[in-house]
Amino acid sequence: MTSLYTQLVSKVLFRLHERLKGHTTYSMLHRLEQSQWLTPEQIAALQQQRLEAFIADISQHSRYYQQLFAAQGLSASDIRTVADLSKLPFLTKQLITDNQHTLCSEPQTQLQRYNTGGSSGVPLIFYMGEARVSHDVAAKLRATRWWGVDIGDPEVVLWGSPIELGKQDRIKKIRDELFRSYLLPAFEFTPAHIEAYLQQLQQLKPRMLFGYPSVIHQLALAAEARQLSLSKLGIKVVFVTSEMLFEHQRTVIERVFACPVANGYGARDAGFIAHQCPAGSLHISAEDIIVEIIGDNGQVLPVGETGEIVITHLQTQAFPFVRYRTGDMGQLSNTPCSCGRGLPVLAHVSGRTTDFMLTTAGDKLHALSLIYVLRDLKEIRQFKIIQQSLQEVEVQLVCNEALSDTLAAQIISQFQQRLGAECQITLKQLDVIASLPNGKHRYVESKLDY
Ligand SMILES: [Zn+2]
Repeated sequence: MTSLYTQLVSKVLFRLHERLKGHTTYSMLHRLEQSQWLTPEQIAALQQQRLEAFIADISQHSRYYQQLFAAQGLSASDIRTVADLSKLPFLTKQLITDNQHTLCSEPQTQLQRYNTGGSSGVPLIFYMGEARVSHDVAAKLRATRWWGVDIGDPEVVLWGSPIELGKQDRIKKIRDELFRSYLLPAFEFTPAHIEAYLQQLQQLKPRMLFGYPSVIHQLALAAEARQLSLSKLGIKVVFVTSEMLFEHQRTVIERVFACPVANGYGARDAGFIAHQCPAGSLHISAEDIIVEIIGDNGQVLPVGETGEIVITHLQTQAFPFVRYRTGDMGQLSNTPCSCGRGLPVLAHVSGRTTDFMLTTAGDKLHALSLIYVLRDLKEIRQFKIIQQSLQEVEVQLVCNEALSDTLAAQIISQFQQRLGAECQITLKQLDVIASLPNGKHRYVESKLDY
């Protein structure tokens, strides 16, 4: 049941707000809400049409792509299908940084500048035109509505991005109050902060939560430890994004808040790529975003194989993102979703390419296999695994109770089974594990260069 206030916000205020900012969000949303029900073939045809128009546009208006097409002896008509994209090189963070000005399309429209740290710690500066901003907001709104909630419903955002926090000026505050979106900064997560957040949640009684899975998971665990029941707050859905969502986190969050967790995959740089529907599939916003999965040598992999996610965002005419390497690993699926939407599906996103460790034999091991060892132990509240070298791995632990010698020996033995018997495993008990400057938590970190 949508409240009158939510209807007012959704139907009037937010539309007005977007129009005043020059965004075409609502016309895009209208278009997206219709196209999601097309068949996969119809969506692919629509995507191809948009790809052709996009390539024609950037090959004329972006100096970087003008030069690239000329250098490679290509014309816009050579890039008609998704398969044709492989004629073009990848775009990397380094290339964007080096070619910031030539990438911008002429004549220049009003561009918003973004500066993101990214979990790799390498800063990336890039620009967004109006079409892209509107698209990303519209795609997010569409996915929000899949869950029976809408903008204007009270929302608590647990976020740590400096972009959002930098805008905490008066206007943003008024806007957020109007739209009933409340930000709790996730930079710091001390017991005192957790206490305050839990109190605020109970006062605000939001219909939706939004934030990093690691942060919401910690909050849920803290509530349980205090025997605080949050299941009757009326939260309908918890949206998580920006980090990999682990199944153990989903289980805890769903139990504590008594509502489903909806996973989203996207980032400020790559766009709003995919969002989970209530039937469980991670649907790609395929009308405007093309996902390719590539192997170690840059070759395009078939559906069902895992590789790096590369995206082409068709609303980036003003500052093109073509075959942009996200650094995330994932896999496409061709199993149709029971929700009836024709949007293609990401089978899974398995974290950053950097979420891997090397065994002493030099083999790549997904860090998940180490995380499995620790995640279900009731003695352990938080952890971080750091690969110092091939022979040395440090496991930082925040414990609920002191580890027995038997348990410590078991953990070490299980790590050695996976990493190699010669690997030296050090367990280090800490009071707190610091999050990254942007508030995210990294479960694994490798100091190896490979
Ligand atoms: Zn679905």
